[in-house]
Amino acid sequence: MQLSGTKEKLEEFVRKCKEIGLKITPQRLAVYEVLLKSTNHPTVEDIYEEVKKRYPYVSLATVYRTLETLERIGLVKRVCFWGNSARYDANLSEHHHLICERCGKIEDVNLDQEINIPKHFHGYRTKGYSVNIYGYCPKCQSST
Ligand SMILES: [Zn+2]
Ligand SMILES: [Zn+2]
Repeated sequence: MQLSGTKEKLEEFVRKCKEIGLKITPQRLAVYEVLLKSTNHPTVEDIYEEVKKRYPYVSLATVYRTLETLERIGLVKRVCFWGNSARYDANLSEHHHLICERCGKIEDVNLDQEINIPKHFHGYRTKGYSVNIYGYCPKCQSST
């Protein structure tokens, strides 16, 4: 959980919206807030269901558009894994993912060992890396 910085992050969102001339609505703020408070990399539908609890009249299209905007201004990342629909991540620090192949749970993890990725690699100028570790979560292991 990263609740401590939520207020600051929401303020940053408001500031960036003003910068690009985007109207700030309670629904848009709620979308970002749900993401900030979630650690399970929710899908668009998950976020929609959460926001709807507070704003029953919010539309799925609004949630989609808000996520697109957040992605464009660099406040969220979209993570896509084989077999899963697009998931959203508001954790922008470099981290890795543990992915359950059965229930689709995605958890953030840090690794003890660093991998040294060269600044220039196969003709690319590299920016960072992320490791995906696949397996079965404890819950799914006990249900086999
Ligand atoms: Zn699982
Ligand atoms: Zn993550």
